[in-house]
Formats: sequence, structure tokens, C-alpha cells
Amino acid sequence: MTKYLTTIGLEFHAELKTRTKIFCSCPTDAGAEPNTHVCPVCLGLPGVLPVLNRRVVELAVRAGLALNCDISRYSKFDRKNYFYPDLPKGYQVTQFPLPICRNGYLTIKDAAGNPKKVRINRIHMEEDAGKLVHSGDNLSGSTFSMPDYNRAAVPLVEIVTEPDMSSAEEARDFGETLRLRLLYAGVSDVRMERGSLRCDVNISLRPEDQEELGVKVELKNLNSFRAVYRAIKFEEERQSLLLDKGLPIVQETRLWDEATGETRSMRSKEDAHDYRYFPEPDLVPVVIDDEWLAAISGDMPELPEVKKARLLALGIGEKETEQIVSEPYLSRFFDRAQELGCDPLTVSHWLLGDISRLLNESGAEFEEVPVDADQFAYLLGQVESKAINLNSARTVLEDLFGTDKKAADIIRERGFAQISDTSALQAAVDQVIAANPKPVADYKGGKKASIGFLVGQVMKATRGQANAALVKELLEKALEN
Ligand SMILES: [Zn+2]
Repeated sequence: MTKYLTTIGLEFHAELKTRTKIFCSCPTDAGAEPNTHVCPVCLGLPGVLPVLNRRVVELAVRAGLALNCDISRYSKFDRKNYFYPDLPKGYQVTQFPLPICRNGYLTIKDAAGNPKKVRINRIHMEEDAGKLVHSGDNLSGSTFSMPDYNRAAVPLVEIVTEPDMSSAEEARDFGETLRLRLLYAGVSDVRMERGSLRCDVNISLRPEDQEELGVKVELKNLNSFRAVYRAIKFEEERQSLLLDKGLPIVQETRLWDEATGETRSMRSKEDAHDYRYFPEPDLVPVVIDDEWLAAISGDMPELPEVKKARLLALGIGEKETEQIVSEPYLSRFFDRAQELGCDPLTVSHWLLGDISRLLNESGAEFEEVPVDADQFAYLLGQVESKAINLNSARTVLEDLFGTDKKAADIIRERGFAQISDTSALQAAVDQVIAANPKPVADYKGGKKASIGFLVGQVMKATRGQANAALVKELLEKALEN
């Protein structure tokens, strides 16, 4: 049987995190009533002129810096002409021959675990189209559709890679690495399930002994990197079966169906010349001078790899570092707690333990960890100074989660202050020794482990508030006699 090599290139569309649209002052936030965030400019009415949103350029440059690109000091906009009801102007303003960023790359791991460079051909700025709302559950079952232009002219960057990936694993790894970089760079909120990051796959197969690339198929409607992975696996199977039988691969766009786990043909693929690109006459070219570029670079947030290196240097384990950095709100909380003087390892332990558990249990979405870092730092200080024990601290954390309560108040109200007063504990110790002759005899007979039971009894008698280390000490002293 012939073996086939897979070649994959990816195309991303990321919605930029701006307050307003690319050429007008309509707001970009989603969820508004249909056609309420529109104006003559984004509806393409005659006689109006677009004005480029400066922030769009800044975020596109940030994307370029985050993805190791060359930043074009001179770029321009073009019109891409096609008709579809979600495109009110009849053309999309985009960048064609002169994009804002070129020649980037990201490093991923290949199958053998070695670093592999995946080149990024270009990043360009463009406007999004509107949305069609269908009357039925899906397009085929609906009798009519209504356009909603709220999303029309929301700014996007399109990011196009070279066909440098050769497996579903590499494509997923690249996608996740890119997503995290754009998130840290503050370019986009990159939520694939909401469409603020979209990923299309170009895939072709060729026999092992063939130099020339096979016929390219484009895959769309991929709402997660898991879908990207599954769709590629499906296509590899489908295309190799066709090639085995000597049947041709059709150059086309195929839609991924999450429910059936299959791709199906949507349309034959257009070539660039079908769009009749021409220069956008209503916009001046985008010129980025040294000063502006320096300002954008200077404003660049810390990228995930830099943060990872910093955490590893603090002694945080590799797996833990990976977990903290993969969620920016965890890593921001880590930084705040550290700034407040908390021990990094202790913070990591709490973040990935109780805090992650509480986040999961709440089931809600958080932009930030809903625990005040100052209160958290105070709590850790109380544990460290043995003013409260670990179990109490966990309860205090639960009370702090999602509230603006003060840790000191919770500790006082719940009576968590640990009993570290020897005279107060001595009575309980004496009582436990008197009430448990067997474990006491065991201990004296050399079975040292039975002290654990006795410590437990004292803790129980003090409702968990005793300083356990001190209890053990007092018991040992009493039992020596
Ligand atoms: Zn508008």
C-alpha cells in the first residue's frame, strides 16, 4: 500500500480587541439587537468615507511582533469583490499585495519532540462581514434568512502560514501556541467557540515518492483545535482511500460537521483572481514611522514563553508552569501574589489546587481569579505564622472566593484562630491520654505510629483548632514519663 505525506497550511481570522469598528465609530461588542451597531459607513451607503481606526493598526503590529514578523512600514488597503448578502458594500476592504506584517514564524514540536519552525507568510488587516440569521435550525431547513450587520466591519487580522505542518498534531500544537500568544499580546480574546478566532485548514496528500504537492482541500467550520485535529484525521483517511483507488481529489472547500465527525463538500474553491482585487481608493496608505513602532513595541505585554521561563526560574515545576501560563488569569494572579511577597511555590500549589477546584466547581467564566490577592496574601501569612492551620485556611479561601470579605473577619467569625497556647492544650492532651490506654500502651511499647491517632483525638477535642505540631510535641513529652 502506498504511504502518503500530509501537507498542512493554516489560515486564522482573529477579531481585534477594539472598542469600535475598523472604519467608523460603531461599537464592536457582540450580543446587541440585530442592526443596532450600524451606520452609513459600515452599511456602505453612498457618499460616505471610511476613516481607519488607529488602534487596529497598533493591534495588527502587536500580532506581528508576537509572531516574529517583519513589520511593513508601508502597507495599503485593497477591495476584494464578491457578492453575498452579509457584505453590504459588495466588496471587503482587506490588504492584498502589501500586508502589514510578513515573514514570521512560531516554533512547535515535531513528532519526535524536536523544535520545528513553522513559517508565517503574512498578517493583514481587514473588515469582517455581517451575519445571516436563518429562520430554521440550519440553512437547509430554513425558509428565509435575515442579515445582521452588527459584525460588518469589525476589525480582523488574517494570519496565513506556509504549508509547513505535516500532521494533525502539529496543526493543533501550532494553533494552540498562536492562540496563547495573541491572547497574551492583548490582540484578541481568541474565543474559538464564539468565533473571535477562526481557523481554516488547507490540506493535501501526496505519495511518499512524489515531489509535487497534491490537490489542496480547504476545511472550514472548525470551532476548536480539537475539531481542527479531528477534521485533519478524517481528511487524511478520506483522501488516502480515494488515492488508493486512483480517484482524483477535487479542489474544494469542505465543511466540518462536529456531530457526524465528517467533512462534506461546500463549494469548489475560488482562486484569488476571481475576486478582482484593486486598490481601495478611499483610504490613504498606512505608514508606520520609527516613533510609532517604538511606542507599540514598548507597550507590548509579556509573551507566554517569557513568562514560562520566569516561572521555571522561580523553581515552579514544568507541568505546573504550563498549567499556570495556559490561563492568563491564573498567571496574572500568580504575579500579583508574588508581588505581595508570597512564596512562589506556595502560590502555585494553591492556584492549581484549591483555587482551580473552586473555579471548576463554580462553572462560571472568569476574566480574573475572583479572590482578592491582598486577602490571599494575608491568609498565606496566617498559615505561615501558624496563626491558623491549613484546613481552616482552605475554608477561609472558600469564603473569600467571589466575595469582598476580609480574611481576618472570616478567621475571627469562624473562630479559626489556632490554639498555640501550651496551657490551653495541656488539659486536652491529658484527657486524651487518660481515655485511650491501648494506643498509649502501644506507643510506650515501641509502636510510635500510634501517636497519630492520639494527635487526631486532641484535634477532635479542640474542633480542629489546635496547632497540630504543638499537640504532637506535648503528647510525646507526656508519654515519655
Ligand atoms: Zn458603522
